[in-house]
Formats: sequence, C-alpha cells, structure tokens
Amino acid sequence: MKKKLNKKDLTVFKKIIINKKEEVLDDIKHISEDTLKKSQKEASGDISGYTYHMADVATDSYDREFSLGIASNDRELLYELDDALKRIEDGTFGICEDCKIIIAKTRLKAVPQARFCIKCQEKREKK
Ligand SMILES: [Zn+2]
Repeated sequence: MKKKLNKKDLTVFKKIIINKKEEVLDDIKHISEDTLKKSQKEASGDISGYTYHMADVATDSYDREFSLGIASNDRELLYELDDALKRIEDGTFGICEDCKIIIAKTRLKAVPQARFCIKCQEKREKK
C-alpha cells in the first residue's frame, strides 16, 4: 500500500483546506460583528422595553452564547485546518496517526483536517 499521497492530491487538498479556512474566517467575522452589535446596543443604553420583556432578554443572551459557542468551534476548526496545512508541507497529510494507512480521499474531501481514518476515529469516539 502507498505510504503517502502524491503531489497532485496534496495540491488539491491544499486548495480545499485554504478554501475552507476562508469560509471559517468569514464565518467568525460575521459572528463577531453580530455579537459586537448586540453588545453595543446594550452598552449604549438601548434597553427600552427590556425590563418588560424578560423573555426577549433571555432569548437574546441565549442567542449570543450560542453565537460565541459557534465562534469558538470555528476557531478550533481554524487551528485544525492550519495544522492540516502544516502536514501537507511535511508530507504527512492524509495519513492516519494511529494505524498509518492513507485516509480515504472521500473522507479527506469532506473533512480535510481529519487526522485519523474512519475506523480509528470511531474507536476513539467510543472511548
Ligand atoms: Zn487508522
């Protein structure tokens, strides 16, 4: 069995990862702008009606926590994508860190930051 992905494949995955990175960066930007706007609205004293609409306040803070949660997931993903780019540079990209086989290309296309093959990933998730 081949031990590495060839250069052509690596180039394709590099593009996929870079595209994905841009998407995530864009996402983070939108979320933080959104969160910022909401915080500014509250800070500027625009809380008219808030006291009388406790339900709205609750929904609003839930929304913000939810957005922040997404933002932190995105940051995590960004870190993983950067890591995948490093692995492309040193030629270890696409190789399962546990069993050292080449991860299926269909899996890498969907999850380019994957560090394990499906079998090893499933084993890890069961633990
Ligand atoms: Zn594996």
